[in-house]
Amino acid sequence: YSFEQLNLSKHLRYAIEDLGFEKPTPIQAEAFPVILSGKDVVGISQTGTGKTLAFMLPLLDELKFSKQTTPRIVVLVPTRELVIQLVEQIQEFSKYMDLRVVGVYGGVNMNPQREAVAQGCDIVVGTPGRLYDLTLTRALQLKAVKKLVIDEVDIMLDLGFRVQLTNIFELLPERRQNIMFSATMTEEVDALIDDFFIAPHKIAI
Ligand code: AMP
Repeated sequence: YSFEQLNLSKHLRYAIEDLGFEKPTPIQAEAFPVILSGKDVVGISQTGTGKTLAFMLPLLDELKFSKQTTPRIVVLVPTRELVIQLVEQIQEFSKYMDLRVVGVYGGVNMNPQREAVAQGCDIVVGTPGRLYDLTLTRALQLKAVKKLVIDEVDIMLDLGFRVQLTNIFELLPERRQNIMFSATMTEEVDALIDDFFIAPHKIAI
């Protein structure tokens, strides 16, 4: 399996070349076609397997970004550190694309984040609590979201974010693709999938 076989846009191919990646990791090879199919996806995966690229490449490749003011992709992660890391990674993959990525997280003043999302963005990466708070200020609108990614969902639920997740789900359009990654399958993770996912395709690496 090679990156060439994925028929990615040249913008993404060049960025991957710059990063020096030669071929997809196993989880990437398995996840690309499934994610491109548009179905809901649940991935059981540890960090360090290349899962970020596994979900971001197909999403970046598929979506047509057309200077919308409201985001098309929402990525939820449990911690501020992960938000910062993920924003950096997405910026690297998309450096030849004209994309606006904003990261939002709690523990800091909300105003700069409110202004950043209000100016318009294509992808918002955030912790569930702050992201939901931003929707309450009306700076962040979720009605045009096509793809929802939840990473490290087991940790997120352990941190007590279930209510915020449910609140966010209620603001999203019903027609969307859900993609979730978890290191472990707990009862809580299962319950979340049952409540919000439609016939998810499961991949385990
Ligand atoms: P992740 O599991 O997404 O945190 O990725 C773990 C590390 O693997 C990151 O430093 C990525 O930059 C790197 N990586 C991701 N995909 C590939 C690939 N196909 N080839 C080489 N390195 C990769």
